[in-house]
Amino acid sequence: MSSNSNSSSSRNKIELLSCVSQNYSWGKLGHDSVVAQLLEKGTTNNNNKSIDQQQPYAELWMGSHPSGPSKIQQCNTNLIDYIHKVKQEQGISLMGDTVEKQFCNDFPFLFKVLSIRTALSIQSHPDCNLAKVLFKQHPDIYKDPYHKPEIAIAITPFEALCGFRPYDQIKDFIKTVPELSNSLPNNILNDHSDCKDLLKSIVTNLLNAKPELIALNLKTLEQRLTQKQEQEKLDKLVIKLHQQYPGDVGVFFAYLLNYLCLDRGQAIFLAAGEPHAYISGDLVECMAPSDNVVRAGLTPKFKDVNTLTQMLTYTTGCPGIIEPIITDPCSGHLSFQPPVDEFQVDLYDFSRLSPNQNTIAVASNPGPSILLVLQGDNITIENDKLTSNNLTNITQGTVLFVPCDTPLHLINNNNSTNQPVLIYQASVNQRVFQ
Ligand SMILES: [Zn+2]
Repeated sequence: MSSNSNSSSSRNKIELLSCVSQNYSWGKLGHDSVVAQLLEKGTTNNNNKSIDQQQPYAELWMGSHPSGPSKIQQCNTNLIDYIHKVKQEQGISLMGDTVEKQFCNDFPFLFKVLSIRTALSIQSHPDCNLAKVLFKQHPDIYKDPYHKPEIAIAITPFEALCGFRPYDQIKDFIKTVPELSNSLPNNILNDHSDCKDLLKSIVTNLLNAKPELIALNLKTLEQRLTQKQEQEKLDKLVIKLHQQYPGDVGVFFAYLLNYLCLDRGQAIFLAAGEPHAYISGDLVECMAPSDNVVRAGLTPKFKDVNTLTQMLTYTTGCPGIIEPIITDPCSGHLSFQPPVDEFQVDLYDFSRLSPNQNTIAVASNPGPSILLVLQGDNITIENDKLTSNNLTNITQGTVLFVPCDTPLHLINNNNSTNQPVLIYQASVNQRVFQ
């Protein structure tokens, strides 16, 4: 890899990032984890630590969140400190005026890769107002004052529970799953005429039920489902969740939340107040720069039942699938644009180009972006503004910081078309600039 710029100016200069991985217990182990594969092959792990087969590699963080800030490799400086330093010393804005103003000079988004072996907790994220309150009251648990909408794009088959099921489905499960109704007050279905009230009552009662009662009912449920002649997909999910988290009330949420199995390239968007739990698979994720998670189940961590039951929107039936925008089918460019200011995610997929093409243009962006080479080697990245900053021999796992107003060309130097090349880009949502 070469990056030979003699220019002392940092304007338009692409920089290699080294990024932090998080070894949460639910992560895939060793080389099974896409996070570990990216760390091993790429340039982001500049300590050259080798991959430990026994260790979980759950998340790769790309951004400037204090719990795992990325560093500019060349000067070993945290990304946000570098951005501030360049502004101070050279008078150059690497994020652009609009972004600096709107996000108060903070880096606007956090980009991640997740590799999930066992289910993550059932959780929801606060909106802007609640995030500020929680941060003030419990800064030890809620570590920043920001909301946390998030988008998740599957890079391998991805299972998730996401948003409440339609009311009728939930009512049917309460009628047909005795272990669930035995965990709720009698007549709960008759006591509420309003659907949102009913749903809130179901969730609140479940989460406040005696743990011994829940554990007993779940054990009965697992035994009954295991003995079933023909297990359905949902039965298998309930058994799996109970094996991962025995006795945990979160297992019952399989009957309350939509169960999604996404294929590679499919995405979900989670607004504030939507309950969800990721169950298995690998994904690219982008969010506002926040680590605020309110948990309710499938976790040994602190469950904030009160906050959670108050904050949920109790909207039903909408699993939050988001389709990419494809302006030109032969350009290899797909754009996921959720309805939030902080971020969007673009995908450059060389397999979508016509056979004689090997170049994809990345348009100039008025804000900063982060590029991740998820798959592919022997890639050239041409900087249209600063040709001395062209990068060659880019490999899988390379993560780059691209300053504002820096258009690029991505070139796949492989002759064989069957080697996949996928490059993801996180940036500020373009609606901010319109
Ligand atoms: Zn989440």
